[in-house]
Amino acid sequence: MTANLFHILETGIADPHATAIETAGGERISYADLIARTGRMANALAGMGVKPGDRVAAQVEKSVQAIILYLAAVRAGAVFLPLNTGYTSSEIDYFIGDATPAVFVCDPAQVDALADAASRAGARIVTLDAGGQGSLTDAAAAAPADFATVPRQADDLAALLYTSGTTGRSKGAMLTHGNLVSNTTALRDAWRYTAQDVLIHALPIFHTHGLFVATNVTLFSGASMIFLAKFDPDQIIGLMDRATVLMGVPTFYVRLLGDGRLDRGRTAHMRLFVSGSAPLLAETHREWQARTGHAILERYGMTETNMNASNPYEGDRIAGTVGMPLPGVEIIVTDPDTGAELPQGEIGMIEVRGPNVFKGYWQMPEKTAAELRDNGFFITGDLGKFDECGYLHIVGRGKDLIITGGYNVYPKEIETEIDALPGVVESAVIGLPHRDFGEGVTAVIVPTGRDALSEHDVLAALDGRLAKFKQPKRVLFVDDLPRNTMGKVQKNLLRDRYADLYR
Ligand code: ATP
Ligand code: MG
Repeated sequence: MTANLFHILETGIADPHATAIETAGGERISYADLIARTGRMANALAGMGVKPGDRVAAQVEKSVQAIILYLAAVRAGAVFLPLNTGYTSSEIDYFIGDATPAVFVCDPAQVDALADAASRAGARIVTLDAGGQGSLTDAAAAAPADFATVPRQADDLAALLYTSGTTGRSKGAMLTHGNLVSNTTALRDAWRYTAQDVLIHALPIFHTHGLFVATNVTLFSGASMIFLAKFDPDQIIGLMDRATVLMGVPTFYVRLLGDGRLDRGRTAHMRLFVSGSAPLLAETHREWQARTGHAILERYGMTETNMNASNPYEGDRIAGTVGMPLPGVEIIVTDPDTGAELPQGEIGMIEVRGPNVFKGYWQMPEKTAAELRDNGFFITGDLGKFDECGYLHIVGRGKDLIITGGYNVYPKEIETEIDALPGVVESAVIGLPHRDFGEGVTAVIVPTGRDALSEHDVLAALDGRLAKFKQPKRVLFVDDLPRNTMGKVQKNLLRDRYADLYR
């Protein structure tokens, strides 16, 4: 019995003629085409010397051919390693030096800049451009379509995925065939995915959200996806009358709400809107429901664990929560100091156990040992609590906790109060070095307009609503919060920018 993800995908295909992927340009790739094309690509990779267990790294623009590459690498028993297209050549040097892939695929325009790094890492360099052309495609076109899928155990690696680097240097999470297959089937069932579904795929494919959640769930359902190179609200609104699902980061929804055409009529054909990768503002959730009649389904996951919790498909999707543990996944909240499980309602460290949890960090045995307990629970680094209805609330990241005058302050609690004030679009609360308090609670606010509110207004509004020690010492106004491609607020940049505020 093989547990190769590709084998399970292929044997589950009910209708080989059904469309798997459709491009914005109108090209349709059926499941049968997809199988044949991955066969050619797997033969091409094997011809380049890729053996089972070898890494195949790719820093390429989103294209159908890049998805074929992912599936072919897995089919050949290799370990797929996608890299953020925003990484600079020195970052790529680090990642491929760390992962030592057999093959490194990059854009033809980058070959000169990256060839040395590839040769230092012992990787053969091949090319793939945004249009799906390059030396990799040429090699695949010349190879036969038949390829015997390499048998793999559930415990064998399928992918090495680097974390987003929000809290420090990105770490390579080792994900197995079993991790990916179990999570895909759990999500497919939880979200009632069927072959009739049509996903608007507008996420990048170097991250767990776009690569595994969106792509695997669609392909494992025999459904189809409309593959868009990037997020374009105009294009997405135009597709909603023939699509059924959209998966996005919170910024997608905020930006779509900015389009006056978004209403019940435009979204009538859609059945599901999923949000994740960063917290969705409760305000966005409410506004979306008021405008479209759809309650956005927020879920929670991370590179290391795939998805852990989801709001229910049937039942209340509660704004500001990430729902309940997915079937097969255990979530507990523990005391960050002792590791003891905390009672319902108390805030602590979120820990996760299940078939979805990764095998450890690539070449970081100490970090793996520190975060992956012997009993199988992974210490996520996120703080949260369960409410009385069993919904999980994310309170923020452990590293984000502010300690001021010896008191613990959870930024999320203050952000929630600030976000509810008139004149506020959103906020980020950070701790900055402070002579007397160790850290000074500081609010960074995006106002609705130039004169929407003043520092004094905010402080006056919070007085009486929050204990004195939680109240910001200063309030700063900005046009935008710094965000990365996955819509995550980069608080480290804010902390650097205002490091001297209290000094
Ligand atoms: P790094 O681990 O390198 O610091 P990262 O944790 O941002 O980066 P990812 O694995 O891409 O890298 O992101 C996972 C994190 O994203 C989670 O640990 C959590 O903090 C956050 N997250 C994901 N979904 C949600 C959500 N629905 N609500 C709040 N936070 C979320
Ligand atoms: Mg993380």
